[in-house]
Amino acid sequence: MDVLQVELAKLRRDANLTQSIQDVDRIIEQLEAARESIVADPNSASIILAKLQNPLKSGFDKVNDDLKKIHKGHSNYGKALDKNFPVKALPNEYDALASHPSLINRAIAMHLIREGQFSVASTFLNEAQGHPPHPAPTPGTPHPSESDEGDFSPQKSQELQAKFENMYQILQELKGRNLHPAIEWARINRDELEKRGSDLEFELSKLQFVWLFQGPQVNGLPDDMNNGLPGALKYAREHFGSFQNRFLRDIQQLATAMAYRPNLPDSPYYRIFNIQSAWDDVSASFTREFCSLLGLSAESPLYIAATAGAIALPTLLKLASIVKEKRTEWTTQDELPVEIALPRSMIYHPIFVCPVSKEQTTEANPPMMMPCGHVVAKESLNRLSKGGRFKCPYCPNESQPKDARRIVL
Ligand SMILES: [Zn+2]
Repeated sequence: MDVLQVELAKLRRDANLTQSIQDVDRIIEQLEAARESIVADPNSASIILAKLQNPLKSGFDKVNDDLKKIHKGHSNYGKALDKNFPVKALPNEYDALASHPSLINRAIAMHLIREGQFSVASTFLNEAQGHPPHPAPTPGTPHPSESDEGDFSPQKSQELQAKFENMYQILQELKGRNLHPAIEWARINRDELEKRGSDLEFELSKLQFVWLFQGPQVNGLPDDMNNGLPGALKYAREHFGSFQNRFLRDIQQLATAMAYRPNLPDSPYYRIFNIQSAWDDVSASFTREFCSLLGLSAESPLYIAATAGAIALPTLLKLASIVKEKRTEWTTQDELPVEIALPRSMIYHPIFVCPVSKEQTTEANPPMMMPCGHVVAKESLNRLSKGGRFKCPYCPNESQPKDARRIVL
């Protein structure tokens, strides 16, 4: 990596267009000056043009020289990249996604909308509709349906887009240090947020209190009764009432901190009033809650999948070369023979799919572990056992349904 850093620094130094732009500007100046002279005295045209020839030629030569240096810089950097990132063929004998092109299109469109790239998303959706995908059979899905399994109708995308536009507007206001739209959104969605155990509305209101408390010199708001200490107290009286049950302790802390007002930086409450990271924090919480109320994860699934894939790639390449060398095959579908260590943020609550019924387990149909250690869904267990002694579908052990234990994932 160090080698690449050095090469990149060289590229930045040598391969920039500053010199070329200066030289082109000089040519333009010469041409403009000549034009003005000819306009002023049309009879001098032939002399002026003749005089212009040599300077122009050397000017163009200079521009070409400048570009040569840039080309050389790029080609050196390209060589360094090739050397440090040798091209390796990706294992492509089995494309697990080939049978689900509609789902992939949907994931891409969703990602673009979530990122606020609305016009790119709509162009993408239009083009995807103009060229309907043709799913190819894969071992996991030998007969993929042409139907739109992951259909993402223009209407649906419009709805989602409108919602994300709203989200970006609110985030934009937060960036401009205006909490009101976010607080209003949290107030409207209070019940839903509380059901999720979210503190968002209070966090936003608390930040508004601290923001007002900092006063006009910090927050730049008008210096009147709605700002500074009186403004913060007024805000607390008007808005903190509804938070008293859940956040009494926090409110007490804010109130006590008032006593330390002359010397806050040395007070035990310094942390509450140090809001440097608070704006980023509330923006992140707001985005997370907003997405979760739409039934979406805070991070784009496409981003997570692509990043996890990039992390896994070296291991997969190694695996592919071992499989090729040993002439063995890994036959289990949708499962890797190696563990890929992913960062904690990419590890999600596991789900369990019953290996017998292929259904995801639910609260009503939970996963049950038999004494042999194999796990199936409760309904499958009942069907297998018919109430009596039965054999595990995965090993020779026999057991009674009452010996199976519910497991919690
Ligand atoms: Zn078993």
